[in-house]
Amino acid sequence: MLTNDQIDRWDRENFFHPSTHLAQHARGESPSRVIKTASGVHIEDRDGNRLLDAFAGLYCVNVGYGRQEIAEAIAAQAKELAYYHSYVGHGTEASITLAKMIVDRAPSNMSKVYFGLGGSDANETNVKLVWYFNNVLGRPEKKKIISRWRGYHGSGLVTGSLTGLELFHKKFDLPLAQVIHTEAPYYYRRKDLNQSEADFVAHCVAELEALIEREGADTIAAFIGEPVLGTGGIVPPPAGYWAAIQKVLKKHDILLIVDEVVTGFGRLGTMFGSDHYGIEADIITIAKGLTSAYAPLSGSIVSDRVWKVLEQGTDENGPIGHGWTYSAHPIGAAAGVANLQLIDDLNLVQNAGEVGAYLKKTMAEALADHPHVGDIRGEGMLCSVEFVEDKADRRFFDPAKKIGPQVSATLLAQDKVIARAMPQGDILGFAPPFCLTKAEADKVVAATARAVKTVLG
Ligand code: PMP
Repeated sequence: MLTNDQIDRWDRENFFHPSTHLAQHARGESPSRVIKTASGVHIEDRDGNRLLDAFAGLYCVNVGYGRQEIAEAIAAQAKELAYYHSYVGHGTEASITLAKMIVDRAPSNMSKVYFGLGGSDANETNVKLVWYFNNVLGRPEKKKIISRWRGYHGSGLVTGSLTGLELFHKKFDLPLAQVIHTEAPYYYRRKDLNQSEADFVAHCVAELEALIEREGADTIAAFIGEPVLGTGGIVPPPAGYWAAIQKVLKKHDILLIVDEVVTGFGRLGTMFGSDHYGIEADIITIAKGLTSAYAPLSGSIVSDRVWKVLEQGTDENGPIGHGWTYSAHPIGAAAGVANLQLIDDLNLVQNAGEVGAYLKKTMAEALADHPHVGDIRGEGMLCSVEFVEDKADRRFFDPAKKIGPQVSATLLAQDKVIARAMPQGDILGFAPPFCLTKAEADKVVAATARAVKTVLG
């Protein structure tokens, strides 16, 4: 039998944790968090603490934990055929069925899915596809990718560059030169502009136009964005933002990659965020909610316009030189099929919309009057609370005070509720599983109000 002490020692000595303060963890200054089991919206650690996970892991366990239907589909697939590759026309019933299920749910101009393993590799694929696209079209100079500050698109070389957060660039020599950033549609943070929301959208458009002008439209291949900024602070865009941005992109023949890793398969109360905001993507990135994280799987849904050029490329150059050993892994695919089926059977997209709206409304009722709560926002089953030092003046706290992390740690310690301190700014983020009930939402809100009171009075 392994003892907790043994596991703790191996954890400090051998396990390189992602997104973790390495030195503090190795020194034992941060707690070991060993999770044992989970069911519905709750996870349980090895000491029997039952925690309400209001962030669904990393906004990914959308159908909730412990779904036997998915576990059984994975087991059945593993017993029948744990692996075969999908190179040179091979496939499995699970991967082909899942591609069809995705296309049935996707916007009507899209009919092909390339499968990867996680959101980062899917966005890596997307950048390669738009480069290939422009090479086939004889436009080898048209390669740069525009992303937004505070966007999150992964942490690889190109995807970490697309990510517009300082922590992901610092000391990694990123961003790479092919990636350029433009204004985030984050109205609340731009009080300095002293503008209406509509004026702010015009400002974002002008910034984008100026960037394109500076760089030259013939050097820019694509624009990438999340329908709602996620890791950058859970920030829904101002009204009219996507329509205005798309107009600019069309004018300059710049492709649009819509990163729906968080919003895909229901989080905004619609199947895709693209449906929610009327976005017409050339490529959509999917991951997380595709399998509800029961197995790693991601995808790039490709529009017919892009697909035609890719096909032409292979007629001219031979098979596409892009593939992972684990593309369309059958176990991930089986999890995806069972997951999408469950989302339909349990009507979870609708629940995400309804309970998400309730969570935001009750959060606002509980906290809007607090002198240090500056903004409460969200869309569907995404919600965030932003803390400020001075509300009238919209002056933010000194980051060194770590107000966001303090509130999140207090919430966990007092009421065993997990919300995420977002990495840039004092922002507490909520992205619960879609099966959250109104009673569970009430508990999250009451606990959050208590934590805010403890930390900020
Ligand atoms: N895109 C978005 C919008 C994401 O939120 C994330 C992960 N948080 C990624 C891409 C990267 O996905 P992964 O961590 O699976 O590589």
